[in-house]
Amino acid sequence: MITILDRLSAEYGKGAYPGRSSEGLSPEWDPSPFHVLIATILSQRTKDSNTRKASDALFGRFDSVEDIANADAGEISELIRPAGFPKQKARALTDVCGMLIREYHSEVPSDIDELLKLPMVGRKTANCVRSYAFGIQAICVDTHVHRIANLMGLVSTRNPDETEFELMKITPEDRWSDVNRYVVRHGQTVCLPNNPKCEKCSIADMCGASRA
Ligand code: SF4
Repeated sequence: MITILDRLSAEYGKGAYPGRSSEGLSPEWDPSPFHVLIATILSQRTKDSNTRKASDALFGRFDSVEDIANADAGEISELIRPAGFPKQKARALTDVCGMLIREYHSEVPSDIDELLKLPMVGRKTANCVRSYAFGIQAICVDTHVHRIANLMGLVSTRNPDETEFELMKITPEDRWSDVNRYVVRHGQTVCLPNNPKCEKCSIADMCGASRA
């Protein structure tokens, strides 16, 4: 796993960032745990490009826990429509922000058990927040990580939670956050879901599914 991460990090530099494109991402852009949490909830069951459109529209209008908690759910729903499931996600966002105000002094918690109490926050979202917002080593298993880890034969699992625990066994803890950062970029650019470009893949020699 170390060699895979070393090669991908040499190739992709900054890596992926939840809800944003790493292309053109300003080095000064320093998202708060609030931004990472909301963007990661928006990213559920949609493409990265849709998440970016929805989060840009939402943060352009409502940019704090209080703003979203007090916003009209219908207006949020319209703003985040590109991310899909707008009513369900709008309700979750207002519920999450209301809960943050009532129970966490308007702060996003970093403890995984506390994060998992929030609406629409499962292990993927919680680990994304811990990793990208708090700098805690965590493996955030999204659709790219789950797909590619199984495709390569690194794990043999039925769901992302199992993938997370199996990857934790074969990845040194000080590299856990690199898994999402670089494997997602690989899934967005080379190991595409329907058309993997194995001939351009820097880790093809370690992949059981290579067509190169
Ligand atoms: S060799 Fe092909 S299938 Fe394997 S990781 Fe690379 S692009 Fe994906």
